[in-house]
Amino acid sequence: MSGELTVALKKGIRKKAKKALREKSAIERLRKKAKNGEEVKQLDEVVEHLEEVAELERKLGSFVIFNKADVLTLEDITKLAKQVKESSGIHNFDIIPVSRDNREYVSLFNAWQKGGGYGFFKPRRGAHSRYKIELDGPKVYLFKGTTIGNYNTSIKVEFTKYTVQHELFHVEMFAYIKNKSKIHKEIFNKIPTYIHEEYVLHRLMKTNKNWKKIDLESDLKFVNKWRNELSLAPISLKYLKNWKFEEKLKEIGFKI
Ligand SMILES: [Zn+2]
Repeated sequence: MSGELTVALKKGIRKKAKKALREKSAIERLRKKAKNGEEVKQLDEVVEHLEEVAELERKLGSFVIFNKADVLTLEDITKLAKQVKESSGIHNFDIIPVSRDNREYVSLFNAWQKGGGYGFFKPRRGAHSRYKIELDGPKVYLFKGTTIGNYNTSIKVEFTKYTVQHELFHVEMFAYIKNKSKIHKEIFNKIPTYIHEEYVLHRLMKTNKNWKKIDLESDLKFVNKWRNELSLAPISLKYLKNWKFEEKLKEIGFKI
Protein backbone atom coordinates (compact mmCIF):
# COMPACT_ATOMS: atom_id res chain seq x y z
CA MET A 1 0.00 0.00 0.00
CA SER A 2 1.37 3.41 -0.85
CA GLY A 3 2.16 5.86 1.94
CA GLU A 4 -0.47 8.32 0.75
CA LEU A 5 -3.18 5.71 0.75
CA THR A 6 -2.22 4.57 4.23
CA VAL A 7 -2.48 8.13 5.50
CA ALA A 8 -5.82 8.74 3.83
CA LEU A 9 -7.18 5.47 5.13
CA LYS A 10 -5.92 6.08 8.63
CA LYS A 11 -7.39 9.57 8.73
CA GLY A 12 -10.76 8.12 7.87
CA ILE A 13 -10.39 5.34 10.37
CA ARG A 14 -9.30 7.64 13.16
CA LYS A 15 -12.38 9.77 12.61
CA LYS A 16 -14.52 6.65 12.62
CA ALA A 17 -12.81 5.32 15.74
CA LYS A 18 -13.47 8.57 17.61
CA LYS A 19 -17.07 8.48 16.54
CA ALA A 20 -17.20 4.80 17.45
CA LEU A 21 -16.15 5.49 21.02
CA ARG A 22 -18.99 7.95 21.35
CA GLU A 23 -21.35 5.55 19.58
CA LYS A 24 -20.49 2.56 21.74
CA SER A 25 -21.98 4.04 24.89
CA ALA A 26 -24.99 5.17 22.85
CA ILE A 27 -25.38 1.64 21.55
CA GLU A 28 -25.29 0.25 25.09
CA ARG A 29 -28.10 2.61 26.04
CA LEU A 30 -30.09 1.57 22.98
CA ARG A 31 -29.53 -2.09 23.74
CA LYS A 32 -31.20 -1.64 27.12
CA LYS A 33 -34.15 -0.01 25.41
CA ALA A 34 -34.35 -2.53 22.54
CA LYS A 35 -37.92 -3.68 22.03
CA ASN A 36 -37.33 -6.88 20.07
CA GLY A 37 -34.82 -9.33 18.71
CA GLU A 38 -34.48 -7.52 15.38
CA GLU A 39 -33.35 -4.32 17.08
CA VAL A 40 -30.80 -6.23 19.17
CA LYS A 41 -29.50 -7.90 15.99
CA GLN A 42 -29.02 -4.56 14.28
CA LEU A 43 -27.13 -3.21 17.27
CA ASP A 44 -24.88 -6.29 17.26
CA GLU A 45 -24.05 -5.61 13.61
CA VAL A 46 -23.00 -2.06 14.42
CA VAL A 47 -20.76 -3.30 17.26
CA GLU A 48 -19.19 -5.85 14.91
CA HIS A 49 -18.46 -3.12 12.37
CA LEU A 50 -16.85 -0.95 15.04
CA GLU A 51 -14.61 -3.83 16.03
CA GLU A 52 -13.55 -4.34 12.39
CA VAL A 53 -12.57 -0.67 12.20
CA ALA A 54 -10.46 -1.03 15.34
CA GLU A 55 -8.79 -4.15 13.90
CA LEU A 56 -7.90 -2.38 10.64
CA GLU A 57 -6.40 0.52 12.56
CA ARG A 58 -4.25 -1.97 14.49
CA LYS A 59 -2.99 -3.66 11.31
CA LEU A 60 -1.90 -0.42 9.64
CA GLY A 61 0.02 0.75 12.67
CA SER A 62 -0.08 4.20 14.14
CA PHE A 63 3.12 6.20 13.93
CA VAL A 64 1.94 9.80 13.78
CA ILE A 65 2.28 12.00 16.88
CA PHE A 66 -0.70 14.22 17.62
CA ASN A 67 0.65 15.96 20.74
CA LYS A 68 0.52 19.74 20.52
CA ALA A 69 3.68 20.51 22.53
CA ASP A 70 7.08 20.77 20.83
CA VAL A 71 8.87 18.96 23.67
CA LEU A 72 7.57 15.60 24.87
CA THR A 73 7.45 14.39 28.46
CA LEU A 74 8.48 10.92 29.64
CA GLU A 75 4.81 10.12 29.98
CA ASP A 76 4.18 11.11 26.34
CA ILE A 77 7.07 8.88 25.26
CA THR A 78 5.75 5.88 27.22
CA LYS A 79 2.33 6.35 25.63
CA LEU A 80 3.82 6.62 22.13
CA ALA A 81 5.89 3.46 22.60
CA LYS A 82 2.73 1.62 23.59
CA GLN A 83 0.80 3.08 20.64
CA VAL A 84 3.44 1.97 18.14
CA LYS A 85 3.96 -1.45 19.72
CA GLU A 86 0.28 -2.29 19.91
CA SER A 87 -0.72 -0.87 16.54
CA SER A 88 2.18 -2.31 14.53
CA GLY A 89 2.59 -5.60 16.38
CA ILE A 90 6.38 -5.15 16.42
CA HIS A 91 7.46 -7.52 19.14
CA ASN A 92 9.80 -5.98 21.76
CA PHE A 93 9.48 -2.46 20.37
CA ASP A 94 10.22 0.30 22.86
CA ILE A 95 11.40 3.91 23.08
CA ILE A 96 14.34 4.40 25.45
CA PRO A 97 14.87 7.89 26.86
CA VAL A 98 18.60 8.31 27.44
CA SER A 99 19.40 11.08 29.92
CA ARG A 100 21.29 11.69 33.13
CA ASP A 101 18.27 10.22 34.96
CA ASN A 102 18.38 6.85 33.21
CA ARG A 103 21.12 4.97 35.10
CA GLU A 104 20.68 1.85 32.98
CA TYR A 105 22.06 3.64 29.92
CA VAL A 106 24.84 5.60 31.58
CA SER A 107 27.56 4.36 29.18
CA LEU A 108 25.46 5.29 26.13
CA PHE A 109 24.74 8.69 27.69
CA ASN A 110 28.47 9.28 28.26
CA ALA A 111 29.34 8.23 24.69
CA TRP A 112 26.60 10.51 23.36
CA GLN A 113 27.89 13.50 25.33
CA LYS A 114 31.15 13.18 23.40
CA GLY A 115 29.54 12.18 20.09
CA GLY A 116 26.38 14.26 19.71
CA GLY A 117 23.13 13.53 17.84
CA TYR A 118 19.43 13.52 18.75
CA GLY A 119 18.18 9.96 18.60
CA PHE A 120 18.18 6.84 16.44
CA PHE A 121 16.24 3.71 15.58
CA LYS A 122 18.05 0.42 16.16
CA PRO A 123 16.27 -2.33 14.19
CA ARG A 124 18.12 -5.20 15.85
CA ARG A 125 20.59 -6.07 18.57
CA GLY A 126 24.22 -5.19 17.93
CA ALA A 127 26.91 -2.57 18.45
CA HIS A 128 25.93 0.95 17.45
CA SER A 129 28.26 2.21 14.71
CA ARG A 130 28.69 5.70 16.17
CA TYR A 131 28.61 5.12 19.93
CA LYS A 132 30.25 1.64 19.84
CA ILE A 133 27.91 0.23 22.46
CA GLU A 134 25.95 -3.03 22.30
CA LEU A 135 22.24 -2.17 22.13
CA ASP A 136 18.99 -4.03 21.78
CA GLY A 137 16.40 -3.60 18.99
CA PRO A 138 13.91 -2.91 17.56
CA LYS A 139 14.02 0.20 19.69
CA VAL A 140 14.20 3.96 19.38
CA TYR A 141 16.78 5.70 21.57
CA LEU A 142 16.31 9.37 22.39
CA PHE A 143 18.79 11.72 24.01
CA LYS A 144 18.34 14.53 26.47
CA GLY A 145 21.10 16.62 28.03
CA THR A 146 24.11 18.62 26.93
CA THR A 147 26.34 17.40 24.14
CA ILE A 148 28.80 18.68 21.57
CA GLY A 149 27.51 20.46 18.46
CA ASN A 150 29.30 21.94 15.47
CA TYR A 151 32.63 23.71 16.08
CA ASN A 152 32.81 22.15 19.56
CA THR A 153 30.00 24.29 20.95
CA SER A 154 27.87 22.65 23.63
CA ILE A 155 24.22 22.19 22.71
CA LYS A 156 21.21 21.42 24.85
CA VAL A 157 19.06 18.58 23.51
CA GLU A 158 15.46 17.83 24.53
CA PHE A 159 13.02 15.07 23.62
CA THR A 160 11.47 17.14 20.84
CA LYS A 161 8.39 16.08 18.93
CA TYR A 162 10.33 16.56 15.70
CA THR A 163 13.08 14.11 16.66
CA VAL A 164 10.65 11.52 18.01
CA GLN A 165 8.48 11.77 14.89
CA HIS A 166 11.57 11.46 12.69
CA GLU A 167 12.61 8.25 14.43
CA LEU A 168 9.07 6.84 14.44
CA PHE A 169 8.91 7.16 10.66
CA HIS A 170 12.02 4.99 10.47
CA VAL A 171 10.04 2.46 12.52
CA GLU A 172 7.07 2.89 10.17
CA MET A 173 9.23 1.94 7.19
CA PHE A 174 10.51 -1.04 9.17
CA ALA A 175 6.91 -2.11 9.92
CA TYR A 176 5.97 -1.69 6.26
CA ILE A 177 8.75 -4.06 5.17
CA LYS A 178 8.00 -6.43 8.03
CA ASN A 179 4.46 -6.82 6.70
CA LYS A 180 5.84 -7.79 3.31
CA SER A 181 8.83 -9.98 4.00
CA LYS A 182 10.11 -12.56 6.45
CA ILE A 183 13.67 -11.29 6.06
CA HIS A 184 12.64 -7.72 6.82
CA LYS A 185 15.62 -6.97 9.08
CA GLU A 186 18.10 -7.86 6.32
CA ILE A 187 16.16 -5.89 3.71
CA PHE A 188 15.86 -2.89 6.03
CA ASN A 189 19.63 -2.88 6.56
CA LYS A 190 20.40 -3.22 2.85
CA ILE A 191 18.35 -0.19 1.81
CA PRO A 192 20.78 2.72 1.36
CA THR A 193 20.79 5.37 4.11
CA TYR A 194 19.70 8.14 1.74
CA ILE A 195 16.46 6.26 0.98
CA HIS A 196 15.77 5.74 4.69
CA GLU A 197 16.19 9.47 5.28
CA GLU A 198 14.20 10.46 2.18
CA TYR A 199 11.34 8.26 3.36
CA VAL A 200 11.33 9.98 6.76
CA LEU A 201 11.49 13.49 5.36
CA HIS A 202 8.74 12.70 2.85
CA ARG A 203 6.49 11.39 5.63
CA LEU A 204 7.26 14.33 7.92
CA MET A 205 6.09 16.75 5.23
CA LYS A 206 3.07 14.67 4.26
CA THR A 207 1.66 14.29 7.77
CA ASN A 208 2.28 17.72 9.32
CA LYS A 209 2.58 21.10 7.63
CA ASN A 210 3.73 22.89 10.76
CA TRP A 211 7.29 21.68 11.16
CA LYS A 212 9.93 24.38 11.27
CA LYS A 213 11.72 24.88 7.98
CA ILE A 214 15.06 24.92 9.79
CA ASP A 215 14.44 21.34 11.04
CA LEU A 216 13.37 20.03 7.64
CA GLU A 217 16.33 21.72 5.96
CA SER A 218 18.73 20.29 8.49
CA ASP A 219 17.44 16.79 7.67
CA LEU A 220 17.63 17.58 3.94
CA LYS A 221 21.27 18.50 4.36
CA PHE A 222 21.96 14.99 5.65
CA VAL A 223 19.95 13.41 2.81
CA ASN A 224 22.09 15.28 0.30
CA LYS A 225 25.26 14.37 2.14
CA TRP A 226 24.39 10.64 1.83
CA ARG A 227 23.40 11.15 -1.82
CA ASN A 228 26.62 12.98 -2.56
CA GLU A 229 28.64 10.05 -1.21
CA LEU A 230 27.02 7.89 -3.91
CA SER A 231 27.50 10.61 -6.56
CA LEU A 232 23.75 11.29 -6.74
CA ALA A 233 22.47 14.80 -7.51
CA PRO A 234 21.12 16.82 -4.58
CA ILE A 235 17.36 17.02 -4.11
CA SER A 236 14.96 19.64 -2.71
CA LEU A 237 12.11 19.51 -0.18
CA LYS A 238 9.71 20.09 -3.08
CA TYR A 239 11.02 16.95 -4.81
CA LEU A 240 10.32 14.92 -1.67
CA LYS A 241 6.67 15.96 -1.57
CA ASN A 242 5.82 13.68 -4.49
CA TRP A 243 8.28 10.98 -3.57
CA LYS A 244 7.18 7.32 -3.66
CA PHE A 245 8.85 4.59 -1.65
CA GLU A 246 7.91 1.74 -4.00
CA GLU A 247 9.35 3.63 -6.99
CA LYS A 248 12.58 4.32 -5.14
CA LEU A 249 12.97 0.66 -4.29
CA LYS A 250 12.37 -0.29 -7.90
CA GLU A 251 14.98 2.23 -9.03
CA ILE A 252 17.65 0.50 -6.98
CA GLY A 253 16.45 -2.96 -8.04
CA PHE A 254 14.79 -3.95 -4.76
CA LYS A 255 11.78 -6.21 -4.69
CA ILE A 256 9.71 -6.62 -1.54
ZN1 LIG B 1 16.95 9.41 10.31
